[in-house]
Amino acid sequence: MIQRGRGYVGRFAPSPTGPLHEGSLVAALASWLDARAHGGRWLIRIEDVDRPRCPAGADAVVLSQLAQVRLLPDEPPIWQSRRDAAYRAALDRLIAAGWAYPCGCSRKDIAEAIAARGGQRERHGELVYPGTCRHGLHGKPARAWRLRSTSTVDGDAPLRIDWRDRRLGAQSQDLTDEVGDFILLRADGLWAYQLAVVVDDAWQGITDVVRGEDLADNTPRQIRLQELLGLPRPRHLHTPLVLGDNGEKLSKQNGAQALDLGDPLAALQRAGIRLGLPALEARTMPEWLEHAVVAWRVRLP
Ligand code: GLU
Repeated sequence: MIQRGRGYVGRFAPSPTGPLHEGSLVAALASWLDARAHGGRWLIRIEDVDRPRCPAGADAVVLSQLAQVRLLPDEPPIWQSRRDAAYRAALDRLIAAGWAYPCGCSRKDIAEAIAARGGQRERHGELVYPGTCRHGLHGKPARAWRLRSTSTVDGDAPLRIDWRDRRLGAQSQDLTDEVGDFILLRADGLWAYQLAVVVDDAWQGITDVVRGEDLADNTPRQIRLQELLGLPRPRHLHTPLVLGDNGEKLSKQNGAQALDLGDPLAALQRAGIRLGLPALEARTMPEWLEHAVVAWRVRLP
């Protein structure tokens, strides 16, 4: 499964919460084009780690939609719902090293601790964890596991993560202050996206992460986990978001257009235009994809 030392390996990692929409086809196409433009390999990972949000059969629909537009992986896809043991091993390693700790706080506890400090600490609607259980559970039962966002395992010194995006350039985030100690294993027993994505990117030998810009903000957390788990740091390219007619990010939540595959070649053409490619003359999908790789290569960041 692991293809190390074989050059570029990219991936598309859909969460099968429903069929692909127009925006997710753009993300899939961007990662595919970038892999092909580098003479690389392209893999698919079904990110069904949040099982209650993934209806039965949605994974098969997503894979068949990708196949209809000829975006075919170079290896059989993997499913995160089958990877519990790998995530457990990574968590155990972080616990043994002292980086992961149990947290007994409910959402209410967190909100109260923040209010007691006189602060409003919200970030994308999420409360920034005030570190209540960082130095012990104070008799509460453990509910979840968190990662210390500090620079040392036994102190509170902040940590800044610097990284480079191929399109956005130099990026920097104060992990401790802006994000805080983040969840690895949730109170409901589900693995957090941050841990799963890092473990699986390494397992699949991913060298290049190409995904939508809405995920750029997660990258420092993933880089930190890669450092602590001794995993390689991939290159990153975050593509511009595809906005709906209302100017909001296209998503299943805001009723993004379902992907219309009545004419799959036209769907590819629309996705390409959203990525900034010119309208390409082609009679077949393989021909369109071939032209698109050339056009992508010309404007490679
Ligand atoms: N599963 C995530 C999503 O569908 C993408 C994760 C990633 O590309 O890192 O939004």
